[in-house]
Amino acid sequence: MSDGAPKYAWMNGKIIPWDQCVVHGRSAGGFMGSNVFEGVRAYWNVHQGELFVFKHEEHLQRLARSMKTVRLEVSTTLREIEQGALDLLRANEFREDAHFVPVAFFGMGAHNFNTLGPTVDNGVYITAVPWPQPAALLNGMAACVASWRRISDDSVPPRLKAGANYQNSRLAQTEAKVNGYDTSIILNHRGTVAEGPGACLMMVRDGKLVTPPVTAGILESITRSTLMDLAARELGVNVVEREIDRTELYVADEVFMCGSGLEVLPITSVDRITIGGGTRGSMTKRIQDVYFAAARGEVPAYRQWLTAVYRAAREPVMAR
Ligand code: PMP
Repeated sequence: MSDGAPKYAWMNGKIIPWDQCVVHGRSAGGFMGSNVFEGVRAYWNVHQGELFVFKHEEHLQRLARSMKTVRLEVSTTLREIEQGALDLLRANEFREDAHFVPVAFFGMGAHNFNTLGPTVDNGVYITAVPWPQPAALLNGMAACVASWRRISDDSVPPRLKAGANYQNSRLAQTEAKVNGYDTSIILNHRGTVAEGPGACLMMVRDGKLVTPPVTAGILESITRSTLMDLAARELGVNVVEREIDRTELYVADEVFMCGSGLEVLPITSVDRITIGGGTRGSMTKRIQDVYFAAARGEVPAYRQWLTAVYRAAREPVMAR
């Protein structure tokens, strides 16, 4: 179970051995996946000898919104979770790109272990793993359109980053793999494009960068808003937020997915129809370049998006 695993995890305020990071199988979190979480990237900057967490505060704020929506209360504060993540990255001595996941979960059912009622022993844990950049960033991925529809705000809200939402992602991703694709694009109940199993989507049509709106059945992605910001500031391109039809993907010049874990990943075909030249497009490359430079701490103007993991331990904590 723990072959090749990092040494430590974090739970309810303490650094603990990786193997002890467990949630009881009969709790609402363990049994029904009743939790909310974040997926956060940390980039190693070899020249500065520093590990930078990218947009930590944005992730913490989204975690707080998810917890509010599901009415989950835990005894740890957001600031303790923030500090816990930095402590954990340092404890594991990561000097490479990493990814970490803070999870806030519902505990044991208070009445006869009923997982749908009030719970006790809710908690938070964080795991972090090394996460090198994949070759697909250059080579792209083949996507299909999923036969599964995206969950929607009137049933299982995708705006909420909840563990149980990812059953929808798993169905779509498994179907894609079984059918020989790398990933899938999931349509919403209106039949327009929502997002991928773990990332948002953008396309280039007629020189315009287009992405579905936040009401299209997507997670309100931090990478998506970062790219909108960077495209405008660095490339002079305004991203248009509008519904995207399935067949628009087929005739797009470029398609890419974006997310903290997946980063900015070219889609080179959809349903076996080649997108553009069938390789990473020029806009996708330009966006990747500005995104990675900012995320890795190479652009002083975007330094405020980053938290220096090792320097933070040497400097006094700033009051927020
Ligand atoms: N949509 C889904 C379903 C995701 O799981 C993710 C990854 N967290 C994203 C979009 C991208 O979100 P972010 O850019 O905030 O990581």
